[in-house]
Amino acid sequence: MRFDIMTLFPELVEHVLGQSIIGRAQKCGAVEIHAHNIRDYSKDKHRRVDDTPYGGGKGMLMMAPPIYDCYSAIVAAAGACEKRRVVYLSPRGKVFDQSKARELAALDHLILLCGHYEGVDARIIEEIVDEEISIGDFVLTGGELPACLLVDAVARLTDGVLAAPECYENESLSAGLLEYPQYTRPVEFRGRTVPEVLLSGHHANIEKWRAEQSLAITRAQRPDLLEK
Ligand code: SAM
Repeated sequence: MRFDIMTLFPELVEHVLGQSIIGRAQKCGAVEIHAHNIRDYSKDKHRRVDDTPYGGGKGMLMMAPPIYDCYSAIVAAAGACEKRRVVYLSPRGKVFDQSKARELAALDHLILLCGHYEGVDARIIEEIVDEEISIGDFVLTGGELPACLLVDAVARLTDGVLAAPECYENESLSAGLLEYPQYTRPVEFRGRTVPEVLLSGHHANIEKWRAEQSLAITRAQRPDLLEK
């Protein structure tokens, strides 16, 4: 799967997504991630990409033309693609969750637009954006961290990124429940021992215990998931 991120801070996303599992996934070719500096598409001699909003108000808005030219260059480089989507990271969007991550992981090409300052000129949203996505009901200074978060969540569902699909099939939210508690060595830590059933080797009992724990934790910590 290919990700293209349009941003004023490409180094930021490259650094975050260049580490650990997603960094390795890029190296082995399981995902392709390109960060593009929107400023490179400014026609202004000072490379300006923002201006004051019409009608007044505080702050600056990102102008439409450099974003459009950046988008056009990405599409030209990537070529024709049926399963492509353009997402604007925005606090106005629908809040991102695991089912949206699964939906996006079925695409071949995701283009992400990161806003900054007061956001972007509304016409660029009308012109190129398919969907606005928020990462939560709070406001950040820019779309870069939301973009990294979204790419991480989507990329790890892509073939070849994790060792096997089982790595994400049984975890929190995959089946609408939170994950059961997990333990590793040592058997005893500061007087707390690993539940007996996990040491028993009895797989049916272990599965039953895990299912009960999942339900109990979801009921205690996220009862809203059970209502869904
Ligand atoms: N004026 C905008 C509004 O009220 O909706 C907020 C702009 S915000 C300060 C700057 C940029 O950060 C946005 O254009 C967006 O790309 C990003 N951003 C901020 N909060 C976000 C969130 N919760 N989810 C996704 N992106 C967010």
